[in-house]
Amino acid sequence: MCGISAYIGDDAVEHVLAALKVLEIRGYDSAGIASWNSGIQIVKGVGFVDQVFNDIALPTSSMAMGHVRWATHGKVSEVNAHPQLDCFGKIAVCHNGVIENAEQFSSFLANHRYRSETDTEIIAHFLEGKDIVDGMISLSAQLQGYNSFVIMSESRILASCGGPPLLVSHGQLASDASALTSSSFFALSQGDIVEIRKEDFVLHQGTARQTHYFQRRNSDSSQSSESSSTMFLSEVFEQPKAMLTALNNDLRKLSRISQQMDGCIVLTGAGSSKVACMWAKYQFMDIGLHVEVVPVGDWRSRSIPNNTLVIAVSQSGETGTLIPLLEMVRAHSYQLIAIVNTPWSYLAREAHEVLALLCGEERSVIASKSFMAECVVLGHLASFVRGDSRDYEDNIGKASASLARWLPVLQREINQLEISFERCFVCGEGEYYPIAHEGAMKLKEGAYVFAEPMVASEFKHEALPLMTNKEVVFWVGETFGGGIAQVAEIRARGGKVIGFSTEDLGFDIHVEMPEETRVFPPLSIVPFQLLTQNLANKKQINIDRPRNLAKAVTVR
Ligand code: GLU
Repeated sequence: MCGISAYIGDDAVEHVLAALKVLEIRGYDSAGIASWNSGIQIVKGVGFVDQVFNDIALPTSSMAMGHVRWATHGKVSEVNAHPQLDCFGKIAVCHNGVIENAEQFSSFLANHRYRSETDTEIIAHFLEGKDIVDGMISLSAQLQGYNSFVIMSESRILASCGGPPLLVSHGQLASDASALTSSSFFALSQGDIVEIRKEDFVLHQGTARQTHYFQRRNSDSSQSSESSSTMFLSEVFEQPKAMLTALNNDLRKLSRISQQMDGCIVLTGAGSSKVACMWAKYQFMDIGLHVEVVPVGDWRSRSIPNNTLVIAVSQSGETGTLIPLLEMVRAHSYQLIAIVNTPWSYLAREAHEVLALLCGEERSVIASKSFMAECVVLGHLASFVRGDSRDYEDNIGKASASLARWLPVLQREINQLEISFERCFVCGEGEYYPIAHEGAMKLKEGAYVFAEPMVASEFKHEALPLMTNKEVVFWVGETFGGGIAQVAEIRARGGKVIGFSTEDLGFDIHVEMPEETRVFPPLSIVPFQLLTQNLANKKQINIDRPRNLAKAVTVR
């Protein structure tokens, strides 16, 4: 969450503005730019980048930095937008993170003119009157939590990395590679303090090593070829292609990892990545492996034995809740396999082995093709353990071709559905339960519908009393025996059941899924993605920028 950009060179303000538009998916509460012209000038405001800057004549400068915010401390307001300033307007700060010991600075701040409600402003006041590098070294040692920040002071731009991502290149810096104009860059490590210069950058503290030097490949950019009304929809339509490219990991590496898979295995992720782990658990359990799924934010509350094999799944590889996990990996000698879309991310750098999603940038806040690619890669790994990877690859090829044919047909069918509801349940059995979970998540995130995922057989034990004409039940996938009775029980009490499955189990409305969903059940998420887009259109929700969400949740 939150995006930072800095640039030194001609047209710096224009460069930072263009970068903020790219970074906007990381936070869109407010945006701001500081530029240098023998002093600091700040332009900032509430809303999307275009709303803040469109009607403003921005200054010309050869040095600028900017921020898009996802508020954690202090409401969404212009005064709380970054950059924040010290008492004299001589030090400007853009910050990503949460200062967990902000209270400890309160007596020191009593003599300062504190303007905002943010924790960020502490940084600017702390540096007042100090040598800027010494001050940053001292401050970074005192801040608790995961905090990265960028400073503009006396025609210099410096950055401190304390967890949230900062990538630097000659004359520029950004939270994400897509916001850099150069194709090669260094990823800073925790503890690094650097100064950006026009032609180079200087490391004042830390370890940014040659191993943290990256070059972007074309495949890291968006694969989008569809012209859809939203980024989300175009990424939904990219899924057939993403399924195929996700098979392109090094087969020797898959084989090597599969040979390590015995004993206790933990799959971990957050949001849709956690759901991909939930689905994969069925694949690994079927082979007889002992697998647990742990939400990535829940590691501190578990005692997981030393030497466990941990498979961490993440689109960005920068999710803030991953950082405690990565600390525990070192402390407990876990073997860490990363399945990740971003090769330069913190997760990828820390892992012992990396499998890539290879699905291109995901530009919508709501995950779609990354979830599909995660399932393909996890399933591929399971097929190596089983010893039937060739069959699996053939099946993914068939499932991808079927999805490509079926998507436009399904989109028409979903758009014609005549259903209205205020809340819903999403039921599935066996490995379709995780798909129900992901379907409910899409409806919550993108259509603001209260949606509860349920193991289908549990419905009558807890949810039947809630059924009125304001709820509907979605049923996803195949039945393993109880489905017909369960659907009938809900309908007998006036509930309406809409089924997304190959077989009609006696639904009120049946949307027929292609046979290939039986060989690759994650295909069943697609009707929920399309339904979410349809409902978002009707409710005039900007599905690419849902309220209170952001991409790459870098705060804990
Ligand atoms: N804690 C800071 C704030 O609330 C930064 C949040 C962010 O990372 O965007 O302003």
